[in-house]
Amino acid sequence: MSQDERQIPVQVLPTAEAAAAPSRLNLFDLDREGMERFFAETLGEKRFRAHQIMKWIYHRHVTDFAEMTDVGKALRARLEESCEIRPPAVVFDKGSADGTHKWLLGMDASNAIETVFIPDKGRGTLCVSSQVGCGLNCQFCSTATQGFNRNLSTAEIIGQVWTASKHLGNRAHIERKLTNVVMMGMGEPLLNFDNVVRAMSLMRDDNGFGLANKRVTLSTAGLVPMIDRLSEVSDVSLAVSLHAPEDELRTSLVPLNRKYPIAELMDSCVRYAQRKPRTSITFEYTLMKGVNDRPEHARALARLMKKFDARVQRADAAKVNLIPFNPFDGTRFERPEDADVRAFQKILLDQQVLTMVRRTRGDDIDAACGQLKGQVMDRTRRQSDFRRKLEARGVSDAA
Ligand code: SF4
Repeated sequence: MSQDERQIPVQVLPTAEAAAAPSRLNLFDLDREGMERFFAETLGEKRFRAHQIMKWIYHRHVTDFAEMTDVGKALRARLEESCEIRPPAVVFDKGSADGTHKWLLGMDASNAIETVFIPDKGRGTLCVSSQVGCGLNCQFCSTATQGFNRNLSTAEIIGQVWTASKHLGNRAHIERKLTNVVMMGMGEPLLNFDNVVRAMSLMRDDNGFGLANKRVTLSTAGLVPMIDRLSEVSDVSLAVSLHAPEDELRTSLVPLNRKYPIAELMDSCVRYAQRKPRTSITFEYTLMKGVNDRPEHARALARLMKKFDARVQRADAAKVNLIPFNPFDGTRFERPEDADVRAFQKILLDQQVLTMVRRTRGDDIDAACGQLKGQVMDRTRRQSDFRRKLEARGVSDAA
């Protein structure tokens, strides 16, 4: 997105209209369990009615109860009265020459977030946001420059997947265009735990998007207690934003490391891998020229990964994803030379560490990794609220 586009004020829903809007339950906010409970307890209906409505929403992209022809007229009228199926508003969307597609989605009267679809051989991955902005202040991240505004609701998270799925003509279980979802967009997903877990359950539900557990990935900057909590309630794949193999350097790039240093982070990753024996953990490593891309960094990273494999007792428990830095306006970091990226990867591969280099996609629409930047208004007040909440969780020195 160009600088000019970024400055277009978002007026998705006029404030007066929003104020006048009746408060109906948005069914995007409910996972299967919530839908079943709502149908049983509020409507006095059988559970299968909830499943029927979910299939209309997630398999056929229908949001108008009148079109749900296998549901009786009386029930449709009651649903119309008390509920709605309201996806986020598309402010604009844009396709890249390489097939990448980006949506700017309005979340409320003044905030918007970005969602990106990245097609590749035999797979289609959607990168989904969990917060408006982010307060963790990773030094190399475009989102961080906007500060934090608020958490997204379950409806706003699953609504991103629904919008892309509808646009792509995705048909769950029949013709999948959308095969993977990564919670790697704007925000730290583990700081919006309940809404993210609920949305991820809809991604994997047979009546939802029906994706396999391993095809839904949550990426975290390393909130250790929340990684443990996630392992208790969900079977999704885990990606950890590591970016440095030792604490001093990592703290300078990811301030959260001050609170949860690498040893504690790796301990929690070992616990996660032991609870989910068949899944690998991906360690994301953004390569920045002259900062963390030297051979000594690669050797230290290889040692860390080998140690992790040994503790989990599996040769392929750790995967490394190298991401050459994508520069954005105002950043002090630079993209490394291709030869340095290849040399870094070779050191890891020579140590039998499974290592991929992420190809840059969607460069021409600013959809490359680390470039996501929506429109965040009123962030100052929210930022201080957020810091207070972090303080309550004991992570104030990280933000
Ligand atoms: S890298 Fe992720 S956690 Fe860090 S500031 Fe950016 S969005 Fe937040």
